Amino acid sequence: MAKLKKGTRCTVCKSKGEKEKAVVFLPHHRLALCKKHFIQWFEKRVEKTIKEFRMFSKKDRILVAVSGGKDSLALWNALTRLGYEADGFYIDLGIDQYSDDSKKLALEFADRIGRTLHIVSLKEEIAPIPAIDKITDRPACSACGTVKRYYMNRYAKQLGYSIIATGHNLDDEAAVLFGNTLHWNIDYLKRQYPVLWEEGGFIRKVKPLCKITEKESALYAFFNNIEYIEYECPFSEGASSIEYKELLSSLEEKHPGTKLQFYTNFLKKMYPILKEYQERQKDQLKVCKICGEPSFTEICSVCKLKEKVQNISQKH
Ligand code: SF4
Ligand code: ZN
Repeated sequence: MAKLKKGTRCTVCKSKGEKEKAVVFLPHHRLALCKKHFIQWFEKRVEKTIKEFRMFSKKDRILVAVSGGKDSLALWNALTRLGYEADGFYIDLGIDQYSDDSKKLALEFADRIGRTLHIVSLKEEIAPIPAIDKITDRPACSACGTVKRYYMNRYAKQLGYSIIATGHNLDDEAAVLFGNTLHWNIDYLKRQYPVLWEEGGFIRKVKPLCKITEKESALYAFFNNIEYIEYECPFSEGASSIEYKELLSSLEEKHPGTKLQFYTNFLKKMYPILKEYQERQKDQLKVCKICGEPSFTEICSVCKLKEKVQNISQKH
């Protein structure tokens, strides 16, 4: 975040004739804000994003994908303060200390805001991530992403929620967009939108923090005294998305607003073109023969993975 000059007053307080000093400076919004007005600004921006993309209303039951990190907890906090019906969903990935620590923080936070946290253990459902990592040749994060999406969708439906909200922020979205553009991954690009509408067994998925930067979300968590897991998952090391994030952040420093423009211009200019292409492909979605969840192939990737895990454990 750009440096704040000593003695700068909060833009909002100043407009009201008050003298509160600013504690953050948001260069691409040309705003210097005190703690109270930063929290207000953050929550207003989340609310505006929810409305802009018609994500959900106060009548919907929302399930927040909680990892124990700053983004998911900041999102859960903001949704609750804005008056939405939001509960949490935590998947215990079985990644040793990382999972133990993040689960503890997620549980403590749920307690603090007085909302339900549903917990699913991957060890009981299929196998923990370190075991899955050993038996597949795909990178751990790719298998992890697949199983997380699968169980989120399955349990959200079973538990009676109509929307899944994830804490992906602007830095995440811009980095993924950058990677997908670099490789012209049309299949991924056409799904990169803040709302994925319900269809063929998938429930609606939304990203209300898509216009909030990582630093803004960390600051919001900090100002609200939210304790979150501060170290990365051991499998995240060397992920190319981290490199893309660094690259975009160095551009952002020289040209504030770059990330937001890159992402929002994609949504405005490129996404409509890709959407048309997507409409033509919708019919290809089937239902998995084993579990009945939506799938592009006869047997979904999680059931295939399950089979693999079972075969291996039978051999041992
Ligand atoms: Fe899963 Fe990879 Fe994230 Fe770790 S870094 S939680 S393995 S997706
Ligand atoms: Zn299946």
